[in-house]
Amino acid sequence: MTSFEPAAAVPPSASDDRSLVLARRLESVAQRIDAATAAAGRTDRPRLIVVTKFHPAADVRRLAALGVRDVGENRDQEASAKAAELTDLDLDWHFIGQLQSNKAKSVAKYASSVQSIDRIQLVSALEKAVAREREATGRADLECFIQVSLEDDAGAHRGGARPSDVEAIAEAIGRSAGLRLAGLMAVAPLGAEPESAFERLAAVSAQLRVQHPDAAAISAGMSQDLESAIKFGATHLRIGSDILGSRPAVG
Ligand SMILES: *Cc1c(COP(=O)(O)O)cnc(C)c1O
Repeated sequence: MTSFEPAAAVPPSASDDRSLVLARRLESVAQRIDAATAAAGRTDRPRLIVVTKFHPAADVRRLAALGVRDVGENRDQEASAKAAELTDLDLDWHFIGQLQSNKAKSVAKYASSVQSIDRIQLVSALEKAVAREREATGRADLECFIQVSLEDDAGAHRGGARPSDVEAIAEAIGRSAGLRLAGLMAVAPLGAEPESAFERLAAVSAQLRVQHPDAAAISAGMSQDLESAIKFGATHLRIGSDILGSRPAVG
């Protein structure tokens, strides 16, 4: 698994105006990642997942031509349509949104990771779906991230399991054939200091690794807070608007 490395030059196939904008924004995010990684004294480089929700498959194709391999989506309907349109590309699709159990079957067809696992019931749905898909296509293990809520009681809710429920979900994933526990995912609470949230996430991760030493991934950090996430050990960043621009309003 390699993290995103900016292409030395924009390939000729990607020289339309939109590609130039995407290339410039990718480059500037890559520089922020480098600066934050150096400031944190880290020698590893977090993996950049470009969140392409609400943007067309054509943009994903442009990003792929610029060297992006990891893309993130938060709605199955949109993600499955894009993945079906882009089967010729070598991409890893990461599912990062709230997931209903009845969508597990669809997600297992294209996703290499699900980062938003917040309950045991979803683990069993994913296990069944991956088994079915493995039989049909020989798909690889599904990388599983447990989404942790970092809300205080006062904060607005943005999803995820309570830290006290993480171990039970981790054990369920560990017992499931075809699922591999990668680690944790979280979104910093709205209107709160991201550093203290990510510091708490790092503590939940340390606790998880007591029983699950290989579950070391921490998916944290979005456009607004990637520096704080890197400071507190994020191994995966999920960046949307600072690369693709603001999301079109949905009706
Ligand atoms: C949309 C989204 C992101 C990307 O957020 P930006 O602020 O656009 O960078 C990251 N993680 C999740 C879970 C998201 O839904």
